[in-house]
Amino acid sequence: MTTVLALLTPDGPALVDPAVPVLRADDVGVIRGESVFETLRVVGRRAGFVDAHLARLQRSADRLAVPLPAGHEALVDCAVGAWGDEDGVLRVVVTKGGTAYALLTPVPAATVAGRRGVTAVTLTLGLPAGLRAQAPWLLGGVKATSYAANMAALREAEARGAQDVIYVSTDGEVLEGPTSTCAWVTGGVLVTPPADEVGILPGTTMGVALSLAERLGVAYEVRRGTVDELRAADEVLLLGSVRGIAPVLALDGVAFPAGPVTTRLGEAFEAALRP
Ligand code: PLP
Repeated sequence: MTTVLALLTPDGPALVDPAVPVLRADDVGVIRGESVFETLRVVGRRAGFVDAHLARLQRSADRLAVPLPAGHEALVDCAVGAWGDEDGVLRVVVTKGGTAYALLTPVPAATVAGRRGVTAVTLTLGLPAGLRAQAPWLLGGVKATSYAANMAALREAEARGAQDVIYVSTDGEVLEGPTSTCAWVTGGVLVTPPADEVGILPGTTMGVALSLAERLGVAYEVRRGTVDELRAADEVLLLGSVRGIAPVLALDGVAFPAGPVTTRLGEAFEAALRP
């Protein structure tokens, strides 16, 4: 299976040839990046945590004033129904110009490998941690297709010999990754920053991880934390829908072990995707 494309038409979602363009040249979603999207993992003919993703799509759409067309939710089942049995990456995209589609592609080999762990560097986001919550026009915590800066940060990581990034604020707080939520474990307690307070994306995987932590008896705190605390942590994790719950094996060149909390949560997350 290579690519499946489901397009929302006036008659509902329909499978279309992925080689045929579906976007208009004058769509502001293309011209100005005013589109919203969600990325879901498909495992064994099921998309994971669909409700949480669609709720966040609505939240992003509200922030960008992108109208979500009626019936966009049905794109998920339409695309997944045409997919084979293997893992896949499902992107649901809605542009301000009114095009909505779901694109299903194989999981990149690097993402699969990254589930065993990644190396990361800290990079500044150039803002104090509390600023984006006070300045909603900066669109902190919005999953818009304007991800060029996020991709540039990943290229910077690569240039520094690492695979991923943890953004830090100018006042030294931990924020998130360009495509992931960050958490760490200190003294057996899992810690992650509060998304709304520091203007980061509320991760669906982090949400699942917290309920798994509750079930497994792992203590957790949702609170702000400093990069010094991160560096002194016992475990550092990056979480995202397709990568799952992955250990950070080196941060700014300093090695971290893949610790027990990350391993337990990671296994429980994979199991939750295959009920
Ligand atoms: N933070 C950002 C900026 C992201 O782009 C993503 C996912 O792509 C996440 C966090 C993790 O979110 P989720 O776990 O819902 O995939």
